[in-house]
Amino acid sequence: MQVLTTIPEVRAARGAVSGSAGLVPTMGALHEGHLTLVRRAREDNGCVFVSIFVNPTQFGPNEDFAAYPRDTERDLNLLRAENVDYVFMPPLAALYPDGFDTSVDVGLISGPLEGLHRSGHFLGVSTVVLKLLNIVQPSRAYFGRKDAQQLAVIQRLVRDLDVPVEIVPVDTVRESDGLAMSSRNVYLSPSERQAALVLWNALSLARELWTRGARDAEAFRRRMRELIEEEEAARIDYVSVADPQTLREVQRIQGPVLVSLAVRIGKTRLIDNITLGG
Ligand code: AMP
Repeated sequence: MQVLTTIPEVRAARGAVSGSAGLVPTMGALHEGHLTLVRRAREDNGCVFVSIFVNPTQFGPNEDFAAYPRDTERDLNLLRAENVDYVFMPPLAALYPDGFDTSVDVGLISGPLEGLHRSGHFLGVSTVVLKLLNIVQPSRAYFGRKDAQQLAVIQRLVRDLDVPVEIVPVDTVRESDGLAMSSRNVYLSPSERQAALVLWNALSLARELWTRGARDAEAFRRRMRELIEEEEAARIDYVSVADPQTLREVQRIQGPVLVSLAVRIGKTRLIDNITLGG
């Protein structure tokens, strides 16, 4: 495994690959969710690139950019064990040199949900992902369904801008009790870790309502909110039952829907989702 820090190094490495190349973009602080993406990339491609870059432009001024967990040595050991070929870990100035002044705005799908609650977030995500795709030029790039709106934004970006890459979605990896794995879970105290289960419980409630034949989306949102509000440490950012294509809220559930939520547990903001009827 080689660690690359400059764009010319990545271009040279990519140029020497004759078969397919897979890219897994990450912000580090790796867990089994990330490693599942890496294994998928390993199975599908002759060569695997993983990027580790905590992208400042996708964090708001009051968010956790400075505090975001970083543990490079541990991450590199985990990636070595997965037989990754190249890790791209650029310093800030390699991606955002002086004078950098472009951002990629992926329209309507960036607007609701995370877009409403994290102003500018998807401008940062879309811009850095397009840069990484242009730098590495992978055959395939791997993204988790855990960040469902991010996946939708990137799929739109790749279609609209004719980026020659296949976007491969990977299902959410969960702890044994249902909590979605996240780098931010390390912020949780033991009691908050327990409280954080309320996200999974609310999604499980939605699945149960759906299985029992309920189709009034507002009733889903209300019941999920009520359940979350019973948890003292939890503060709701949003609870959504939306069309998976447009991310617009639906009234009645007729086809597949994305049930998603963002909840603060103490100071830690967690997101999760499931698709029903897909
Ligand atoms: P991050 O480091 O949080 O930016 O995540 C890097 C990639 O890993 C993104 O495509 C995420 O959607 C994906 N990811 C994060 N957590 C999980 C998880 N629990 N299961 C599957 N994919 C995940």
